[in-house]
Amino acid sequence: MSDSSRQIATFLAHAGAAPFNPETGVAPVNLPPMRASTVRFRDIAKLEQAQRHRAEGGRPASYGIYGMDTHIALENIFKELEDGEYCALQPSGLASIAMLFLGLLSAGEHALVADCVYGPVHELNNALLKRMGVEITLFPSDAAPGEIEKLIRPNTRLLYVETPGSLLFQMMDIPALAELAARRGLVLATDNTWGSGYIYRPLQLGAHVSVIAGTKYIAGHSDVMLGAVVARDSAIFQRIARTQYAVGNSISADDVWLALRGVRTMPVRMDQHARHAMTVCDFLAARPEVSRLYNPAWPQDPGHALWLRDCSGTNGMLAVSLKFTPAQARRFVESLTLFGIGFSWGGFESLVQLVTPGELARHAYWTEGDLALVRLHIGLEDPRDVIADLTQALETAKKA
Ligand SMILES: *Cc1c(COP(=O)(O)O)cnc(C)c1O
Repeated sequence: MSDSSRQIATFLAHAGAAPFNPETGVAPVNLPPMRASTVRFRDIAKLEQAQRHRAEGGRPASYGIYGMDTHIALENIFKELEDGEYCALQPSGLASIAMLFLGLLSAGEHALVADCVYGPVHELNNALLKRMGVEITLFPSDAAPGEIEKLIRPNTRLLYVETPGSLLFQMMDIPALAELAARRGLVLATDNTWGSGYIYRPLQLGAHVSVIAGTKYIAGHSDVMLGAVVARDSAIFQRIARTQYAVGNSISADDVWLALRGVRTMPVRMDQHARHAMTVCDFLAARPEVSRLYNPAWPQDPGHALWLRDCSGTNGMLAVSLKFTPAQARRFVESLTLFGIGFSWGGFESLVQLVTPGELARHAYWTEGDLALVRLHIGLEDPRDVIADLTQALETAKKA
């Protein structure tokens, strides 16, 4: 990567700038959303050149489904963030995961999947992969590599993880898993939505493929669905890219443009989310209603040492188990006034999700039985207001 030595914030402030008009010598700062279905070629030689370039694994703008300059600018940003060589944008984070599985696995093949992955991955398995004759084995996110190795079969091709995990934010040891994958000939892929290439870079730690839901911190404003698959190896990437082309996924230039706009401020947003989240952790850890705090940046978290070793920061995410009855937990969540009740995260606003016992049942890392788990995304609101809101909701819940 030509820009890999630049600090990420500097890179993001300048990447994908609009080129100067060759005649007038002026340019807007931002590349406009370049919408296209048909792409016109000046002559047949240009068309043939684009086709040759694509056949060699290049990235020409030759038809709307691939996207034009706006798409290429965002792809280049994902490559830089993740320190990868290849990027394919996707219509959502879940589509990125689906393309990864569909691209890398054939009928009769098998994948090992950490039990802490994004919930809808289980639906991908039930609704699609099983029907296609692909088999998935879940393993506990805190299993030692030696334990995971025992689950490898002759037809195992993929080791798929998410770290920190969805809901409980447990850290997994990517370098150790990469060593296992290399030794046993598996592809190691990871969901890096949490890190989004800013605070965590799994490809540098040995993963082959990283997927990011750009919907979250990349776009950052709760109004875009987008994803990306990033890889270093051409053969691995081409399997995914060809599958994506075969199913006809296309991403709107307007969405790409919004993501380009959003990602420029990702460092300042994420740093602020992180500061606010750590302030909220200090508050929650001292509250008698809180049983346990889940956040690898929190020094008492079991994943803290791995976080210190492998991550360069944190974000607005955390979870708390509460010594509440189910009714009190509902009352707590519904009493919050600054937190939206809803899925997804990474926008500027605070969000809360009451995790259902059914969702937790899949997670071996969860050891707190019937306690309520609440996941919080701490937004950019003043943390004093956020803490006041949490305080009144905890007090209200206790009266339930
Ligand atoms: C939200 C999320 C996804 C899915 O992204 P969408 O764009 O909503 O489809 C995937 N992985 C993780 C970890 C997520 O949090």
